[in-house]
Amino acid sequence: MKEIVLASSNKGKVREVAMMVEDMGIRIIPLSETAFDEEIEENGSTFEENAIIKAKAVAEKLNVPALADDSGLEIDFLNKEPGIYSARYLGHDTPYSIKNQMILDKLAGVPDEKRTARFVCSMALVLPQGDVVTTTATMEGRIAYEIKGENGFGYDPIFYLPEFGMSSAEISPEQKNEISHRGKALRQMKEKILELE
Ligand code: IMP
Repeated sequence: MKEIVLASSNKGKVREVAMMVEDMGIRIIPLSETAFDEEIEENGSTFEENAIIKAKAVAEKLNVPALADDSGLEIDFLNKEPGIYSARYLGHDTPYSIKNQMILDKLAGVPDEKRTARFVCSMALVLPQGDVVTTTATMEGRIAYEIKGENGFGYDPIFYLPEFGMSSAEISPEQKNEISHRGKALRQMKEKILELE
């Protein structure tokens, strides 16, 4: 495999994935640089299903190997919400500073041991002949008591990592990449790609 189309045009994701597969001689092509112009309906009921739906749509249309990811935050006290709805939870366009405060309010008075949460990431690689390879990984932590940190994005400022004593928005991007759901799922995918070759 020399080239893989990433079913995303998010610059951060493209850079992150491209960096990780560079040493395998694989070039990552962002979706925006392809002729793919369809709206993909992510109607799966799990992160894995949604990743497969995205990768399959691109692989079938362009006849190339396609990689997609789907990720989100599961808060145990909220019955694993927002889960696969993480991006649109509490309003797609609501700023995260507000969404994060709303989550802290929902968990007001909830003790440490009931604040457990995790980020989940599933990745799917779909080959033009239809083969599907998936990986799923998590980063475990707790919902913090306050918003803290400037790194990362989304729910990072309220995601407390007990082993660091900091939120995932306070650790460095390199540290986050080593322990994150996305970093782990991507490294597992890399191993599976090596097995394919
Ligand atoms: P998607 O996989 O790009 O659709 O991301 C889903 C949503 O999950 C994001 O919009 C964020 O709200 C949340 N999310 C996923 N990964 C992270 C993370 O590493 N930090 C903070 N929020 C995340």
